[in-house]
Amino acid sequence: MINLISLCQNAEKIGISGHIRPDGDCVGSTMGLWQFLSRRFPEKKVEVRLERPSELYDFVPGVSKIVENEDDVVYDVYFVVDSVPERTGMAEKYYNAAKIKVNIDHHITNEGAGDMCYIDAGASSASELVYDLIKEADPEGEYMDESLAKTLYLGIIQDCGVFGYSNTSSKTMRIAADLISYGFDFPKLIDETFYEKTFLQNKVLGEALQKSVLCLSGQFIYSILTREDIDRLGAGEHDFEGIVNQLRYTKGVKAAAFLHEIPEGGYKVSLRSGGAVDVAKAAQAFGGGGHVRAAGCTLKGTPGQIVERLTAQISEQL
Ligand code: 5GP
Ligand code: MN
Repeated sequence: MINLISLCQNAEKIGISGHIRPDGDCVGSTMGLWQFLSRRFPEKKVEVRLERPSELYDFVPGVSKIVENEDDVVYDVYFVVDSVPERTGMAEKYYNAAKIKVNIDHHITNEGAGDMCYIDAGASSASELVYDLIKEADPEGEYMDESLAKTLYLGIIQDCGVFGYSNTSSKTMRIAADLISYGFDFPKLIDETFYEKTFLQNKVLGEALQKSVLCLSGQFIYSILTREDIDRLGAGEHDFEGIVNQLRYTKGVKAAAFLHEIPEGGYKVSLRSGGAVDVAKAAQAFGGGGHVRAAGCTLKGTPGQIVERLTAQISEQL
């Protein structure tokens, strides 16, 4: 395992980034690592480079300090967390320029990159892996406190569906047990970040369910929101989380896809399965990746063309 102390003690500038469209685990793992390193090494420059996360995560310490502007910093150590370096958007160039490149991830499609990596596809989340690294670096928990515990717990619950998905292990539960002992209000955190939706998000979910199409003898469900739909609803990029999971909970369905047209052009595709279909494999066929039961990719073309390609990939596995 990577030792954060020996890795970082001689560094002056440390950078951290995660994937584009950061989700809860991406925020939990990058900000958790940032909180630990900036507290452990107050004399060093520790920076997170990430796309602006959803406002839902504004309470996480450090989010307001995320560096968004571009400059020419060369970091001594650079961490890519919860992602492959290619999926970090603008941050990739800092990773490429860094003296020591580190990759921490739990995606099965990540083969490991950089000078050092800690990749475990069996982990519930990247936040679980960051917890491991912090525990190794700080066994007495000198630098662990309520807000760091809450940040890591946030990342874990977001990626394991509040301990409901199959990526939850007994180790995940033991880590969660340790984290809640720091005393933050975990039921409130779960409600506010996992279950609660804005009125608009519920409307968008309703629209996506209305437009869903069942095919492959009821085993594959998909729904598409075009730019026109999105603009009519007044939705933004943070209003789509959870839709694909709801589609997957349709009786008889083995795989679900939710597509939404993105501002850069093309469609972001989110895939889910109950385990019978390996959606990571399907996503990988289109240059994406993820996990067996949750994966994604970005595709160009008309909705009709994209659905045809996706359906062909899914049907191969049924
Ligand atoms: P979501 O559908 O929630 O965006 O993503 C599901 C899972 O697949 C997440 O673990 C996410 O990190 C991963 N994923 C989503 N889109 C992509 C992609 O374009 N490339 C890769 N490598 N992974 C993705
Ligand atoms: Mn993750």
